[in-house]
Amino acid sequence: AAPLAELDPEVAAHIDAELARQRDGLEMIASENHTAAAVMQAQGSVLTNKYAEGYPGKRYYGGCEHVDAIETLAIERVKALFGAEFANVQPHSGAQANASVMHALIKPGDTVLGLNLAHGGHLTHGMKINFSGRLYNIVPYGVDEVNHTVDMDEVERLAREHRPQLIIAGWSAYPRQLDFARFRAIADEVGAYFMVDMAHFAGLVATGLHPSPVPHAHVVTSTTHKTLAGPRGGIILSNDADIAKKINSAVFPGQQGGPLEHVIAGKAVAFKIAATDGFRERQERTLAGARILAERLSRPDVAARGITVLTGGTDVHLVLVDLRASTLDGQQGEDLLAAIDITINRNAVPFDPRPPMVTSGLRIGTPALATRGFGEEAFTEVADIIAEALIAGTTEGVADPETLSALKARVEALAAAHPLYPNLAPMGAQ
Ligand code: PLP
Repeated sequence: AAPLAELDPEVAAHIDAELARQRDGLEMIASENHTAAAVMQAQGSVLTNKYAEGYPGKRYYGGCEHVDAIETLAIERVKALFGAEFANVQPHSGAQANASVMHALIKPGDTVLGLNLAHGGHLTHGMKINFSGRLYNIVPYGVDEVNHTVDMDEVERLAREHRPQLIIAGWSAYPRQLDFARFRAIADEVGAYFMVDMAHFAGLVATGLHPSPVPHAHVVTSTTHKTLAGPRGGIILSNDADIAKKINSAVFPGQQGGPLEHVIAGKAVAFKIAATDGFRERQERTLAGARILAERLSRPDVAARGITVLTGGTDVHLVLVDLRASTLDGQQGEDLLAAIDITINRNAVPFDPRPPMVTSGLRIGTPALATRGFGEEAFTEVADIIAEALIAGTTEGVADPETLSALKARVEALAAAHPLYPNLAPMGAQ
């Protein structure tokens, strides 16, 4: 067969350009990572050809002996990694994992308590035009207006008032840990299921650097591609045998058809990597990097521009920069950093006065740079580069080109000092 560059030079050239973009810039989108070359190898394999509706040992197709072995490895590894008795590794994505849990445990029209999207929740936790908001009666809870942490007294009050069938804890943009035990106590009091979506912090949980939700929740969902650093996809965990049965039939045939066995192979490889000392050390650097970022973005010269760090710091792999008191808005901040090859995303902060397409926040994460080998010194340098870029943005409205090109040169030096996928050959399209 012809290699990709010969058969389809257009696609090959775009893939090469993306490889160069990832190598030359610094990836600081909190939900992204650089997965292992071995994971990509498993994903780009003949497994993509195989239909395997059903579960290992109970398939609706022949020829499943090898994918059965692979899916079983993924299941056993992820159960061991998180100390769970049951795992489903088939969800195509985090959103589908969450849809499957709701499909399994509640009925359309039932009441669900989830963290408000505008306060850091995820679309699938009840956004109006998402399936969750359309199918279920969503009661959002939020963060406290002063300290910006989840207000557990409000969660309790809303649960008592609305008697939900499901309470969801978890977030896409929140810099602190949640009180899983208190959530479970509230769920038990009102007779609700308790689900934790640990998509963002799963890598920290896997290495014991963040409390595990598994002992507290009826069900835990996650993506596999954020701090966990695997292929794009989802998983569902539980310690309850009855719930496990419902989850399996909700994933297939409830929500999905054939599982993506090539992705499941990538998940199995990622779970093996996540159990190593090297992965734990990487997660430690991820956390250290986020703490350094929070410290450096709290410098007096940054604060003087009305730029602060939400909650004053972080316990996890990301920092939320609060621009509500700054002349710089989220869109400008994102563009400014993009101009010096640092990729982040603008993000609404709680009680954000600016419109959702503009926002007053920046979400900045450290997992991808930790994967790239960043340690304390490099994280301090990138934090100072970001601080100086934001200051420049507020001084000039639009930062002056000389300042930007000096900062960009420092980004290039950091990228060059931390090579990404050194053994990965480009596709070579002309
Ligand atoms: N859950 C949380 C908390 C997330 O942050 C995300 C993605 O950002 C998802 C679920 C959805 O994952 P996916 O994009 O794989 O559907």
